[in-house]
Amino acid sequence: MHDIVILGGGSGGYACALRASQLGLSVVLIEKDKLGGTCLHRGCIPTKALLHAAEVADTAREGENFGVHSTFNGIDMNKVNEYKDGVIGRLYKGLQGLVKSRAITYVEGTGTLVAPNVVEVNGERYEGKNIVLATGSFARTLPGLEISGRIMTSDQALTLDYVPASVIILGGGVIGVEFASVWRSFGVEVTVVEGLPNLVPAEDAAVSKAMERAFRKRGIDFKVGVRFQSAAQDADGVTVTLESGDTLRADLLLVAVGRGPRTENLGYEAQGINMDRGFVLTNDRLATNVPGVFAVGDIVPGLQLAHRGFQQGIFVAEEIAGLAPQSIDESGIPRVTYSEPEIASIGYTEAQAKEKYGEIEAYEYNLGGNGKSQILGTTGFIKLVRQKDGPVVGVHMIGSRVGELIGEAQLIYNWEAYPSEVANLIHAHPTQNEAMGEAHLALAGKPLHAHA
Ligand SMILES: Cc1cc2nc3c(=O)[nH]c(=O)nc-3n(C[C@H](O)[C@H](O)[C@H](O)COP(=O)(O)OP(=O)(O)OC[C@H]3O[C@@H](n4cnc5c(N)ncnc54)[C@H](O)[C@@H]3O)c2cc1C
Repeated sequence: MHDIVILGGGSGGYACALRASQLGLSVVLIEKDKLGGTCLHRGCIPTKALLHAAEVADTAREGENFGVHSTFNGIDMNKVNEYKDGVIGRLYKGLQGLVKSRAITYVEGTGTLVAPNVVEVNGERYEGKNIVLATGSFARTLPGLEISGRIMTSDQALTLDYVPASVIILGGGVIGVEFASVWRSFGVEVTVVEGLPNLVPAEDAAVSKAMERAFRKRGIDFKVGVRFQSAAQDADGVTVTLESGDTLRADLLLVAVGRGPRTENLGYEAQGINMDRGFVLTNDRLATNVPGVFAVGDIVPGLQLAHRGFQQGIFVAEEIAGLAPQSIDESGIPRVTYSEPEIASIGYTEAQAKEKYGEIEAYEYNLGGNGKSQILGTTGFIKLVRQKDGPVVGVHMIGSRVGELIGEAQLIYNWEAYPSEVANLIHAHPTQNEAMGEAHLALAGKPLHAHA
């Protein structure tokens, strides 16, 4: 009998295993594919490598703006993939070494929950005082839209060995706009189709609008508030028909309409676990309704992000070890979209804050007043939302590299800081980080490089 049996070795599962072994618990970690899961092999890491290559392409293209003679001579996709796979390979090796160095029993194979405290793999039964479900997610498609050939999800798009001439992207959320950004930088004609009225619809309305302006400027076409009807592919391309009657034609169609929980036929329902549309329901201690069974990561309703999975994994290990960790505040989870421009946010949007707190104040600091942003040649803003006379409850940013500013934003939000407190902290000049200080100075009533 082990202390913990973990099903799934992605961000949530392996973080739980590492923390549990640190706490002296006996751990079994079961993975059917590759340790590291979606994030390392088909998600965060490969997409960010592509986005970095895209940034290098843009830098080459824009060198003349800075007085540097450079030209963009095209993309060698095999070399890009070699670089991307090199990054993944090194991290994969490091992670395997980390797991091996701990007292973790690593089991390769597909596991099924056959009793509330038993997972079966390859005919072997692993019994745990506690079970942690961490089987992750898969790329969804739409009814009647079959993934094959020129119609693909991020899984196939990440392994393309050529740069298409044109692409239609179904879905203007995080994954859709990140791919749009990469491909545009690689010279592709891109059209994004989003059913909701705005791109990145989960973000603050001002950020969505700014993103649309930036994409327009970059020559990325998009159609919002219009729904997909059908797609047909032939030897030369894909034709997409929208409900408006419009048709679009491109080399490829990327389907980026969200990710579903990977929970089917794994024995969860059979063991009486409460589920909702395939997601595993938990309380705020990440416990399911079945005693001793926990769930972490993308199978738990909420933000599908790797760092949420890490934190949940750590939380469950500590909960099982009896450390009574503090529950995770979902609105305190930082969110970054790594496109050009980047988007980074935490806490409540202006609309959500109004609904939750009634009286609020919002302030937008334009990066036009920030020296480092001017040097980089980026535009954008940092928008703060605070409760009236209270702490900051939302930070929303857009502009090149603003993802790097989320670290301070998450401290401000999670420590419930007041603008006047942040205004007292010194921000180095000239950094983009300084814009965070300026925004808080302004909201504290003593703007320095701002007109408000
Ligand atoms: C294109 C893309 C880009 C992304 N970019 C980011 C980003 O920049 N930042 C970010 O925070 N998040 C990003 N994400 C999301 C992130 O990848 C996920 O939130 C994270 O991987 C979820 O971790 P998880 O442990 O819940 O699931 P997963 O990482 O999916 O891991 C689940 C693991 O369980 C295994 N498994 C499933 N069933 C079984 C079974 N029956 N037996 C044994 N093993 C099983 C799977 O093989 C898998 O390895 C991205 C996702 C995608 C698709």
